[in-house]
Amino acid sequence: MPDSHQPDRYQLVETMLQQPLDNGDVVCNLCLWRCRLRHGQRGFCQAHVNRNGKLYNLSYGIISAIEVESIRNKPVYHYRPDSRVMSIGSFGCNFRCKGCHNLEISWGVDALDKLARGQSTEAWTGPGQIVETALKHGVDGIAFTYSEPAVWLEYVLDVSKLAHEAGLFTVYVSNSFVTDEALEVMAPHIDVLCSDIKSLSAEFYRDICPVGSVEQVLGSIRKAADLGIHVETRTNVIPTRNDNLDELKGIAEWIHDNLGADSPWHVTKFFPAYKLSHLPATDNAIIEQAAAAGRAAGLEHVYAHTDISCDCATENVPVSAWLELDANALDEVKRCAASCCGDEGILVKKFEREAGILTR
Ligand code: SF4
Ligand code: SF4
Repeated sequence: MPDSHQPDRYQLVETMLQQPLDNGDVVCNLCLWRCRLRHGQRGFCQAHVNRNGKLYNLSYGIISAIEVESIRNKPVYHYRPDSRVMSIGSFGCNFRCKGCHNLEISWGVDALDKLARGQSTEAWTGPGQIVETALKHGVDGIAFTYSEPAVWLEYVLDVSKLAHEAGLFTVYVSNSFVTDEALEVMAPHIDVLCSDIKSLSAEFYRDICPVGSVEQVLGSIRKAADLGIHVETRTNVIPTRNDNLDELKGIAEWIHDNLGADSPWHVTKFFPAYKLSHLPATDNAIIEQAAAAGRAAGLEHVYAHTDISCDCATENVPVSAWLELDANALDEVKRCAASCCGDEGILVKKFEREAGILTR
């Protein structure tokens, strides 16, 4: 599949939605940080750099991880529920969450530093190659995930356009700290938004993942829905931080009033990580109570995620394996030797069994 209007090798790609200023500074309008950058400076996400008054994306075509999985893992339950997606991500994120499980990917400092210095050895993957790989693995859609996709929107859009031409749908997994302009540009090419609502508390966002304001996040989610994107929301319940049932009910009420009573809400377990390693995993009873609070608020589709799934993998399957191997050979790579999951493979999740996708 040719990338007619797209680069055919690694290069800096001009940042979308940039606004040059008279003094050589440039404002990036991809996410709500709206970073104003001088020559040589990189944005908060580390993925965009000002070179002589023009902004460039460093991470176009740089893939940090690939996975093939059920759409239910995103979690998305009300869009093509039995389908599979190929999930991809790059490096860099516009948040710095204290409980992030994806530090190497989301902050991606080493990878992005090397790209900025021209010293990277990361493989470059064109948008057409990603779509070809998705078709090879027989999925129905492509999901942009692992860190905030807005920070490499140039690539997300190029892949999405080709994906739609090939009959694949697209999923955007987001923290929704995204500008209205970016949402308007992506809306024709993105079918599904799965967004976090981490809290309704400004204090929580200040403490756990410092951003401007919770109103900005909520406004971004509502804008995506207004633009016709299918929206599902998720709240990860963290013990002692956002597990107050009144507050969780308040999130459900906001969803009810702004996205509709039939809008799906996923309540998920927190697992200790990074600066929140001292906290326990969320008790299943709290997850069930939160879900009950959501239903009491009038939401018709609330999902309590109390499962753990197998988490014995110590490393992702290398990106090159996804690109180079056919589906059968990859099945072998994915097999897990650990006794906890026998021979069914670490990356074959229980949802795939339920959906009948697992063939052996
Ligand atoms: S995408 Fe990156 S450079 Fe652009 S505004 Fe957001 S954090 Fe700043
Ligand atoms: S938004 Fe997600 S990927 Fe980014 S820092 Fe927060 S938890 Fe990590």
